[in-house]
Amino acid sequence: MKAMVLNEVVDLTENRQPLELVDLPEPKPGQGEVLLKVLTCGVCHTELDEIEGRTPPPRFPMVLGHQVVGKVEELGPGASRFKIGDRVGVGWIYSACGHCEYCRRGDENLCEQFQATGRDANGGYAEYMVVPEGFAHPIPEVFSDSEAAPLLCAGAIGYRSLRLADIEDGQNLGLTGFGASGHLVMKMVHHRYPNTKVYVFARSEKEREFARELRAVWSGDTEEESPEKLHSIIDTTPVWKPVVEALKNLRPGGRLVINAIRKEDIDKEYLLKIDYPSYLWMEKEIKSVANVANTDISEFLQLAAEIPIKPEYQEYALEEANKALLELKERKIRGAKVLRISS
Ligand SMILES: [Zn+2]
Ligand SMILES: [Zn+2]
Repeated sequence: MKAMVLNEVVDLTENRQPLELVDLPEPKPGQGEVLLKVLTCGVCHTELDEIEGRTPPPRFPMVLGHQVVGKVEELGPGASRFKIGDRVGVGWIYSACGHCEYCRRGDENLCEQFQATGRDANGGYAEYMVVPEGFAHPIPEVFSDSEAAPLLCAGAIGYRSLRLADIEDGQNLGLTGFGASGHLVMKMVHHRYPNTKVYVFARSEKEREFARELRAVWSGDTEEESPEKLHSIIDTTPVWKPVVEALKNLRPGGRLVINAIRKEDIDKEYLLKIDYPSYLWMEKEIKSVANVANTDISEFLQLAAEIPIKPEYQEYALEEANKALLELKERKIRGAKVLRISS
C-alpha cells in the first residue's frame, strides 16, 4: 500500500519534504482490531510538532495522521463491534490500557499507556490502517468523508477544552487564538450555552473580523483588555504571550484552559511578565488539555451532527501531504486540510 512516512525528526526550514512516499505491506488486524481502508485523513498542526520533534514518534518510520475516516475492510479475531463496510473515524487516541484508575473513570487520555494515532502507532497518511475496534467511532451520515475528518481532532479536542472550561450558560467565555478549534468551539457554545458571550483575542485583523462574523461580542488583539472580565478562557495558540495576557482578563476564580500539546519556546521569556497580584491571585486557575478521551470523540460527533457543524475543507492527494503540511506551517489556511486517499 502507498503511505507517506516520517523517517526522522526534520528541520522544516531546511527540509521541505519531511515525509517520504513509500510502499508498505498492508497491515493485518490483530486481536480485537479492525482493518480500515482509509478514505480521508485530516492534516493537523500536531503533525508539525511530531515532524519538528516537539512530540516525536518513539520509532521510525511512522505513518502520521490522526483524523482518519475509513471503511471497515476486515475484522480481526474477536472483533465484533462493526460490520464490513461500516464508516468509522479514528482520532488522536489510538489505545489505552483499559483498567487503570484513569481508564476506569473515562479519562483514558491520561492513561500511562496512552497511545496516539500517527505517533505511537501508524495512522491515516496511508491507504490502510488497523485500529482496536473500541477506539473507532461511527461517523454520522450527515457528514461527507472530508467534512468528518477535521472534526475528529480539532472538534473533539475543542469539545474537551470546553468541558474543562466548565462554564454555565450566561457566563463569559474567552478564546485566545482563533484557528480550526476556535471556530468549532464557538459553534458549540452558541448551541449549548446560548446566553454566553464569547470574547475573541487574535493577532490578525482577519481572524478578529471572522470572529465577529461568527457572533463574538467582541474581538481584540492578544494583549488587549476585554471590556468585561471572563469566567474562562481557552487558549489554542502555540506560544506563551497569549497565556500571560489571558490571565489578566479572568474574573476571580476564573480558569484558563491551555489547549496545546506543546508550546514553542520562541517567546518563553514573556512568562516573566506575570504579575502575581493581577494575573494569578484571586484563585485563578490554569489547566491544560491532554489528548482526548474516547467519549470526547463520540459525544462531539453526535453534537456536531445535531448542530450541525460542517467544516470548510480543502482536499489534497496523499502524495501532496508535504505541500499541505508546509502550507499549514506557513499559515496558508483556507479551511481544514484533508488528504483524499480513496473513495
Ligand atoms: Zn490533531
Ligand atoms: Zn489506563
